Amino acid sequence: MVQVKSLINCKVYVSFKPLRVANALTIVNDRVFYVGDAEKAAGIAKSLGGEVIDLSGSIVMPGFIDSHMHLDSLGLNLNTLDLRGAKSIEEVKERLRKFITEASATEWIVGRGWDQELFAEGRWLSRWDIDEVTRDKPVLLIRVCGHVGVVNSKAVEVIKRHLGVSLKPPYFDVNEKGELTGIVRELGLEEVLKLVTYGDGQLLKFLEDAVNHALRYGVTTVGLAGCSPEVLDALQVLKSLGKLRIRVRAYLNRDLLPYLRSLGIRCGFGDPRLKVLGIKVFTDGSLGARTALLSKPYADDPSTSGIATISEAELIKVVKEASEAGLQLAIHAIGDRAIDMVLKAYSEVGGYVRSLRHRIEHASVIRSDQVVKASELGVAIALQPHFVISDWWVIDRVGTERAPWVYPFKSIIDAGLMSGFSTDAPVEPINPWETVYAAVTRGAYEGVKLYEFSNGEVLDVVTALHYYTYGSAQLLHSEGEVGTLETGRYADLIVVDRDPLEVNPKELRDIQVLGTMVGGEFTYTSRELSTSLASR
Ligand code: ZN
Repeated sequence: MVQVKSLINCKVYVSFKPLRVANALTIVNDRVFYVGDAEKAAGIAKSLGGEVIDLSGSIVMPGFIDSHMHLDSLGLNLNTLDLRGAKSIEEVKERLRKFITEASATEWIVGRGWDQELFAEGRWLSRWDIDEVTRDKPVLLIRVCGHVGVVNSKAVEVIKRHLGVSLKPPYFDVNEKGELTGIVRELGLEEVLKLVTYGDGQLLKFLEDAVNHALRYGVTTVGLAGCSPEVLDALQVLKSLGKLRIRVRAYLNRDLLPYLRSLGIRCGFGDPRLKVLGIKVFTDGSLGARTALLSKPYADDPSTSGIATISEAELIKVVKEASEAGLQLAIHAIGDRAIDMVLKAYSEVGGYVRSLRHRIEHASVIRSDQVVKASELGVAIALQPHFVISDWWVIDRVGTERAPWVYPFKSIIDAGLMSGFSTDAPVEPINPWETVYAAVTRGAYEGVKLYEFSNGEVLDVVTALHYYTYGSAQLLHSEGEVGTLETGRYADLIVVDRDPLEVNPKELRDIQVLGTMVGGEFTYTSRELSTSLASR
C-alpha cells in the first residue's frame, strides 16, 4: 500500500542554506516526494488516492536534529521529582504525594532540589516527614546542592540490610536518642545512590518517555553522546515494539571500543532508525566544577588549570584504533588545553578526520589558532549555544582576557568548520527554540557578562536553523537522509505556529511546535492540530 499525504496552505522551509521556500509538500510513504505549489501537491494526492492536509497557514520546516544529548539521563530526569523552590516541608510532602500517585511506578522514588533555607518550618526534613507520605516504597530526596539527601524509614531498612554497620555521623545523622534521622551526607549519599534501583523495564520506560518528550519539542533525530550496552539493547527492544519513534545515532562508551573492533562494526551500522556511528571519549571535566582543562590557571582559582581525564598517549591510541576500525570519534573537550590534546591526536590520523568526521564535543574555550587548526584538519564541532545563558558566570572562571575564546560560534562557523547544534539534554533544556534563542541573543537580555565581550559572535536565525538541521545531520553522517525537506529525504518535519524568520528575537523561545512528523507519520500533534486534522 502506498501512503500519500499532501500538506497544503502552509509555508515550507525546504532548507535554510540555501534558503528555499515552497507552498506545499507531498509525502509518499516515509519520504518527501514533491515540494512546490499547492495545486500540484493536491493534484498528486488526489490522483493517488491520498489525503490533503490543510495546515491553515502554519509553518513547516525540517525537524530539529540534536547532535549531542543523553536520552537515558533525560528519561531518568523526567521520572525524578522536582523539588526546586519548595517553600515548606508541607509543600515537599504534597509534591511527593502527587508524584507517587500520578507519575512514578519506579521501585525507588527519587527527588531533587529541596533547600531547607526556603522552608517556612525553619528546620530540615526528616525520615518521619516522608513516612507520612509513604512507608511502602524507599524514598530518597536530594538537596539542591547534591551533597545531602533525606530518606524515609523504608529506605533506612534497605540501607541497613545492605550496608549493615557504619550508619553513623558524619555520613548518617542521628538524633539525641541515637536514631537515624534520615539525613545522609556525602559518602553516605553516594552509598545510598548505589542502592537505588528502578526495577525491570524501567530503562525502556525512561527511553520511551525521553523520546516522546523530544518529539513534543520538534526533535526528530538525536545523537547519543555516550551509550552503554544496556541502552543500546533497550533501544533495539523499543524499535522492535514500534516505539522508537525518533531517529537515533549512537556513540558508544569508550570501554566498548575493543568489542566493536572485534565484531567489525563500522560507522553507520544499523538502519535508518537506529545506527551506531562510533565512540564517545572524555578528555576533561566542566567549567562549572573548574575541571575543564585550560592552558593557564582559572582566573577565580589560580591554584588549578583543571584536569585531564585521559593521558595524551592513551588518547592517541584510542583515536588511532577507532579510526582504523572505521569508527567516528566524538571527543569531549571543553578547555583549550584539552582541545590541544584532541587536535594533536587527530593530526596523527590524517585523512580519517575528514572521512569519518571526527568530532569535538563542546569546545567551550577555543583559541583562534585552534579554530584555524581544526578547520585545516577537517574537525567537526558539536556546539551547545544554550551554555551561553546557563554558564553566565563563565567570565569569572576565565577572566576577560580569554573572553573572546569562549563559545565563539560565529568564528567557528565562519572558519568553515563542519558544525551542528545540540543541547546536551538533560544538562540544557531539549526545547530547540531555547537554543536558537540563545544562539541569536547570546544572553543579551539576561545580562550575561560574556555578551559584552563577544557580541560579534551572535548568529542570525537562518544560520542557527541551518546548523540545527542540516549541520547536525552532517555531524551524524545523515545529511543524505534528513536535515532538509528536499525530494527523496525522509519526511521528518515539524509544523510550528509562527514564522521564526519573522518574529523578533525575544519571541523565538515562545514558538510552539504544533506537530512533529518522523518518516511521514505524525509522532506528536498538539491539541490544536489534532482538532483541525480530525475536523477534515
Ligand atoms: Zn553530554
